[in-house]
Amino acid sequence: MVDISFTCPHCKQYFNAPPEMAGDHLVCPTCQKQIQVPTTAPVKLTAQHSPLGGRLVAGLVGGFILAVLAANISSVLFGDVTAKEQSVTVTAVSVIIFFGLWATSVIFAIKANRAAKVWRRLFISNACLSFALPLAGFITAGKAVHHFAVKGHELEAATMAGAGGIAAILLGILGFFLGAIFLTVGLLVGRDKQKTG
Ligand SMILES: [Zn+2]
Repeated sequence: MVDISFTCPHCKQYFNAPPEMAGDHLVCPTCQKQIQVPTTAPVKLTAQHSPLGGRLVAGLVGGFILAVLAANISSVLFGDVTAKEQSVTVTAVSVIIFFGLWATSVIFAIKANRAAKVWRRLFISNACLSFALPLAGFITAGKAVHHFAVKGHELEAATMAGAGGIAAILLGILGFFLGAIFLTVGLLVGRDKQKTG
């Protein structure tokens, strides 16, 4: 006799149960909710977790993109475009955000039970950050214009407004395409999760 394979309807955790447990009521060890072992024959046998390798690749790749995007947004947002050199603090914050997010993504991937879930979560997060890129550009350009305008440097303010506007539009186009790609991939992977596991 083959074990009964089933998923918890609440948290989607995979289980294998011996056939004599068919129809038994028990508490899901993952989410602590009441579940019932199905009485029908198993549809397919599935491992409890997809292989660690696949999840690690998802976490490393998806997390790297996430970390790059977030570190860039941080430096665009907090960087002083009017200064000649970027301050050490801004660089340090970006570096911390980069490694912090990358490490968090990898930990999330190790703890997740399926690689598809890791890809989907990280790519949808990447899409959100991509759409935030042009927003950060607009805020920074605005701050720079304000900086020069307050000092009465109208020519610099006008130049900054022009340059900032162009930069924000370019970031907007880039962010839109990146966001659209990440969102599409994230949603497709999510829809196919039963197969790609
Ligand atoms: Zn559960």
